[in-house]
Amino acid sequence: MSTAAIIVAAGRGTRLGGPVPKQYQRLGVAPGAEMVLTRTLRAALACAELDAVLVAIHPDAAEMYAAAVAPLDDPRLLPPVHGGAERSDTVRLALEALAPRTPEVVLIHDAARPFASPALYRALADHARTGEGAIAAEPVVDALWREADGMADAPAPRAGLWRAQTPQAFPFDALLRAHQAGGPPALDDAEVFRRAGGRVRLIPGEPENFKITTTADLARAEGLVAAREARMSDIRVGHGFDVHRFCPGDHVRLCGIAIPHDRGLEGHSDADVGLHALADAIYGAIGDGDIGQHFPPSDPQWKGAESHIFLRHAGERVAARGGRIANVDVTLLCERPKIAPHAAAMKARIGELLGLEPDRVSIKATTMERMGFVGREEGMGAIATATVILSEK
Ligand code: MG
Repeated sequence: MSTAAIIVAAGRGTRLGGPVPKQYQRLGVAPGAEMVLTRTLRAALACAELDAVLVAIHPDAAEMYAAAVAPLDDPRLLPPVHGGAERSDTVRLALEALAPRTPEVVLIHDAARPFASPALYRALADHARTGEGAIAAEPVVDALWREADGMADAPAPRAGLWRAQTPQAFPFDALLRAHQAGGPPALDDAEVFRRAGGRVRLIPGEPENFKITTTADLARAEGLVAAREARMSDIRVGHGFDVHRFCPGDHVRLCGIAIPHDRGLEGHSDADVGLHALADAIYGAIGDGDIGQHFPPSDPQWKGAESHIFLRHAGERVAARGGRIANVDVTLLCERPKIAPHAAAMKARIGELLGLEPDRVSIKATTMERMGFVGREEGMGAIATATVILSEK
């Protein structure tokens, strides 16, 4: 049941001068302030149901796009495609680029709407699986007036009027065919889909899912980001513990790094005892089970699996909760091999997998003074803790 998302970032680059398009502006002036597009992509990628996310950009904007995605490290984010002259051309080109992946459902979303929740993406995608389209929209609540020469001329009935947002979700093949059929300019993808005979359900949108088009919108978005950060005070700690037995081999894999050794480690996956303890610590911090629950050893697809898959998944579960990892600390227990020469590479690898700066990752090791199973070199162990910050409900 694969689901893809297209993020439409139509604004031109600034090579020829002119203002920076809103999706490439930063939300705030703090050193870590992220671009609008970065936030939009983070929100989309927090939706675990999405298998692929593709951004359609203006050919001029390649440099700004590279800066926007630099903080993101997610294999589901595909290389960008170049858009066309009109928005509908852009969407068609992006759909054609996705076609070889044969997604079942596709969501189309504006780059300048960074606050759509994972739950909204999910609700729309779920409805599109029925064969109908679905758009996020909100009923109009303001009084409406028709104007003539700057004067209120006649009231306009608002009953039954909705303001469309994005994401908009559709069965992939039907939307691709509808766009390829061409036609006069359309309001949005819902209109293209309806013209081709499709039905489109209105799904209640979210007030915070506004489109940043003016400077006032940008200020509102900055305020929202600041308020969310201020609410990030639900601090969780999780711990993880794991052991693996030594077996014949010529290397061990620890915290993502292969280290030559006169033995290997036995296990269903690659037996990376450090990453296993760490993934369990992260799951533990958010009360989300453990590796065995998410990746059952009874399932043959995880045989020999590289453990970075588990760690990334644990990190994504935190992101899906709108949280972030504050720090992780791993202690490896072994007599041999020596860990210190590899600790820097391990830190870098874990930082890359979880998107953490180096000072938020710690790798330590200790022997067991020749006592117990570690001391007898029958196997090795790892202990990890993780601190996670979630926002107050
Ligand atoms: Mg294990």
